[in-house]
Amino acid sequence: MASDVYFSKIEKGERVKECMIRMLDKLDPFLSVFGKGSFVGIKMTVGDMGSTGYIKPELVGMLVKKLKKQGAKPFVFDTNVIYHGKRQNAIDHLHLAYQKGFTPGKIGCPYIIADSVFGSDSISLKADFKNIKQIKVPSLVKMLDDLIVLSHVTGHLMSGFAGSIKNVAMGMSSRAGKQIQHSSIKPMINVDTCTMCGACIEVCPVSAISELSTNAYINSETCVGCAECIAACKIHAVHINWNEDPHVFAERMSEYAMGILSRIKRKIFLNFATDITLECDCICGDDHRILDDQGIFASEDILAVDKSSFDVLTDGRDIFSRGGKISAHKHQFQYAEEIGLGRADYKLVTF
Ligand code: SF4
Ligand code: SF4
Repeated sequence: MASDVYFSKIEKGERVKECMIRMLDKLDPFLSVFGKGSFVGIKMTVGDMGSTGYIKPELVGMLVKKLKKQGAKPFVFDTNVIYHGKRQNAIDHLHLAYQKGFTPGKIGCPYIIADSVFGSDSISLKADFKNIKQIKVPSLVKMLDDLIVLSHVTGHLMSGFAGSIKNVAMGMSSRAGKQIQHSSIKPMINVDTCTMCGACIEVCPVSAISELSTNAYINSETCVGCAECIAACKIHAVHINWNEDPHVFAERMSEYAMGILSRIKRKIFLNFATDITLECDCICGDDHRILDDQGIFASEDILAVDKSSFDVLTDGRDIFSRGGKISAHKHQFQYAEEIGLGRADYKLVTF
């Protein structure tokens, strides 16, 4: 049976706010389960310092207001990242969130960094998948019954496409969990094109890159696969094996999402197809919009919401695969269905 996906389509001249009002009305029966006293975790990210496409505080505030009216206790949360920047510890991360407008005054509830100040709140929970045998997540994951995932839809350097699955898999795991998911990615440096500028050496969080006489060199034993060097190299001298490693990366993300979500009772996923960029909000401050705003997708099925967002946005065109180089997103949709994360078959209800 196909999963229902609701699509609040942005009409010409309309603002995202109006689209969100329609979506919240449509979701009334689904949101009403988050009743009196329920601690509802709203997972989202404000993205990197330079990114501007993130879901705006005003929209999050509308959801929070609705939940509070029902007597629920919503809170917005994210986790620390493994690469350099303002989200590597909770203090800088919170300052960045406040700077971007995510203050309790504006969103109507606390903004929490779930894995503590230095990302050390990490527990291991049993999993039984092909690649992952235990997931490493903040202890919150074990306690949480109610979850709403707000994801900004973008392209992605390794998985091709990023939506709810990536937001849950990466964004709800601890730093140790993030490293495990990335660990199959081992970039290499093209010795013929590297100009030895040192930019990749500077950003590598684990000092895996060293300086040889004419080029930089990555020690694959030390590398944790965070991909920061790929983004840092402006002349594209750092590259990865697109055909193999990103597929394993995509599988691990599906397994993590499944391991996390199977422990949470009530959940709903909203994908915001607005301010769409080729790069995700995490690493690059990519301000170039590759598509007009499309609207908001919502479903109780994480795979259906991602697959439908991808299908509507691409409409058969090569929008995210970077000239056919990346196919990990397609593999992810197939694999996610195989392990029971959700259904790739969906019924789109547009309104
Ligand atoms: S950033 Fe690129 S050009 Fe600069 S040292 Fe690293 S690989 Fe070489
Ligand atoms: S070498 Fe690149 S991918 Fe590996 S840890 Fe360093 S920055 Fe991350």
